[in-house]
Amino acid sequence: MTISIDFDGVIHQYSKGWQNGEIYDPPIKGAARFIYDCMFEKNWSVFILSTREVHQIEKWCREVLFQKKELPFEITIIPNDVEKPFWNKKKNLGITNRKLAAHIYIDDRAYKFQGTYESLKLEIESYRTWQG
Ligand SMILES: [Mg+2]
Repeated sequence: MTISIDFDGVIHQYSKGWQNGEIYDPPIKGAARFIYDCMFEKNWSVFILSTREVHQIEKWCREVLFQKKELPFEITIIPNDVEKPFWNKKKNLGITNRKLAAHIYIDDRAYKFQGTYESLKLEIESYRTWQG
């Protein structure tokens, strides 16, 4: 199983939107634990998918999310290789700004497509993120 996790609004609180591009908020409570449990309790492959610059996310993850602790897993910036659209590494948190294959995408702005376009426009018009 591979899990893709969005950054802003899912890991980073992102209470005020983009602002100047800085990562200004603390993590959402439970984010570090969730990522850890996915890798160690469930043995899933995990990567963070964001439009942000990947090194910015890596630095913040090391310093803020994981509080500069020595980690029992790697953090890897996934090379941008069109030949490799998968992330199957274990105990290795990938970071990418390119969409890779995953079984589940956790995203505060995702909408689950139900196999029909009927009423989709209506549902999009009333869509709200968890932050409103
Ligand atoms: Mg988001």
